Amino acid sequence: MNILYKSTRGDISKVTSSNAILKGLANDGGLYVPTEFPYIDISFKNMINMTYNEIAFYIINKFFSDFDELTLKNCIDNAYNDKFSNNLIAPLKKVDNSYFLELYHGPTLAFKDMALSILPHLLKASCKNLNIQKEIVILTATSGDTGKAALEGFNNVDNTQIIVFYPKKGVSSIQERQMITQDGKNTHVIGIDGNFDDAQRGVKEIFSDKEFNDLLSNKNYMLSSANSINIGRLVPQIVYYVNSYVQLLKNGDVQEKEKINIVVPTGNFGNILASFYAKNMGLPINKLICASNENNVLCDFINTGIYDIRREFKLTSSPSMDILISSNLERLLYEISNKNPYLVNNLMEELKTNGIYEIDEDMKSKLGDFYADFATQEETSSTINEVYRDFNYLMDTHTSVAYCVYQKYRQKTNDSTKTIIASTASPFKFPESVIESIDNNYDILSDFRLIDKLSNISNLEIPNPIKALENKRVIHGSICKKDKMKSMINNILNV
Ligand SMILES: *Cc1c(COP(=O)(O)O)cnc(C)c1O
Repeated sequence: MNILYKSTRGDISKVTSSNAILKGLANDGGLYVPTEFPYIDISFKNMINMTYNEIAFYIINKFFSDFDELTLKNCIDNAYNDKFSNNLIAPLKKVDNSYFLELYHGPTLAFKDMALSILPHLLKASCKNLNIQKEIVILTATSGDTGKAALEGFNNVDNTQIIVFYPKKGVSSIQERQMITQDGKNTHVIGIDGNFDDAQRGVKEIFSDKEFNDLLSNKNYMLSSANSINIGRLVPQIVYYVNSYVQLLKNGDVQEKEKINIVVPTGNFGNILASFYAKNMGLPINKLICASNENNVLCDFINTGIYDIRREFKLTSSPSMDILISSNLERLLYEISNKNPYLVNNLMEELKTNGIYEIDEDMKSKLGDFYADFATQEETSSTINEVYRDFNYLMDTHTSVAYCVYQKYRQKTNDSTKTIIASTASPFKFPESVIESIDNNYDILSDFRLIDKLSNISNLEIPNPIKALENKRVIHGSICKKDKMKSMINNILNV
């Protein structure tokens, strides 16, 4: 089966996966979606002896069918290897009656590594497939996790440059340190004197600046994007859900075809959408449980069919989920509207002009796969404490939001279906919030002393990437005003 991609907003042209990956966004501003879902056509039992990389090949090959097999295998092997500190890549840990799918053993300790360690290789291969000789310039605006994972992923990848803009005062000190100490001859990190929205707006403006793009093109450069709207990030995320089911089967925790629930701490709706795609491919899933923090716009949407961003934006202890406009929800709207791009387009227009939209009854009736709830700041903190106290298992704040919502779900429904909790970051990435939750009389300490303390209390080893950070040399010191981003790029690329 040859899968093509089209826009969620009505542009009728169908493109190959290479095109969709290289462009990121469709011409009409929509997101690329597969025209159909390939089906998992071997039994899960037969996957029991497959490695993570073999399962990855099986899944990704179905979606990216214009890649030749050897090329795709190389992409996968270059992504999932000893850069991950656990040789299962995404191990499953049983705690009490749930299964934590630990997605944070990659080089930057957040689940973004699962996609951003392969995206650079997919991009390079896409260029080759399309016979594009240009050097690819990846522009990224980040509030923390994506920037570092993209830098690490594109580090020293031939024929690419990676430029990350982050809000100088808007990321945590560990996150900033992770980025400004990044080595690699093609990596560039710039702090801007604005917030994340300013960085994002600047990057978007540069993408749509035709004159500038022409200038770059004349110098043999082409811009591309590493954010989660890129289908090249989404498809690799389906893999770990399939792989986790196979692990359950292998350990005798489920029988073949037994359904499971999946709980996902959700921000931009990419990770949970990947589990929905897995379900569409035939993974036996009962409920997809969407866990929000206090920015609970998605939770309200799933419960009411109304998406309303006219509310206060809150800064929480799970910053990677502090978001009001979840881009990837557009892809779900497309599926539940029977692939009706005109309907999706109207909803997106309403969101832009009024800050609110409501889906019709037919679409609402198709949200039955989902369940949603949210965790408050206090609940997030007390859940970290309880799970640590009762089971000696340490969660980060994002994972805690998911586990807290799962507890609420069980209480309300009594559903005892086996359940996977997507665990999206290492607790060492958010030392202050985690320590605060498990030890209420800690002293004010610097990040690295907090990390030592966390390691002592929990008996967990400090992950190598964090250990190395303290003595790493700062390489990137550039700062620019928010309206000078383009000239920074000019300087970097020498155009
Ligand atoms: C990005 C991120 C999320 C949210 O994932 P989405 O795909 O945007 O919904 C959750 N937790 C962590 C740690 C993240 O970095």
